[in-house]
Amino acid sequence: MKVTKCETMHELSYMARFSNMALEAAEKNHAKKVRAVTIRVGQMTGLVPEYLQHYYPQTVAGTMLEGSRLVIREEPVLVRCACGNVYTPDRGNGYACPVCGSAAGTLISGRQMDLVSVEIEE
Ligand SMILES: [Zn+2]
Repeated sequence: MKVTKCETMHELSYMARFSNMALEAAEKNHAKKVRAVTIRVGQMTGLVPEYLQHYYPQTVAGTMLEGSRLVIREEPVLVRCACGNVYTPDRGNGYACPVCGSAAGTLISGRQMDLVSVEIEE
């Protein structure tokens, strides 16, 4: 995979945003030190977990998050069809429901991008 500078900057700015959210949560809970930060990233967001991991140390340097672990929960792309079937759209099924062939399903997972938890030391 070829990585352009633009794409990696994208991860850096999102990682900085996640780190700020985690820091705010830690401060609100009067944390002395943060052990781990868990975030949820849907596969449709286009964010690459490896890059988020790569940028994590530099976005938390000098804060109480420094030295903590970043846990990334990747959420799969899931669509719920009107027929009740839940599936992952891909080229193999033509991005349509493999049961009834409809492509009018509702996306129920894959766009998430949020902070799940912050593990702190009080
Ligand atoms: Zn269906």
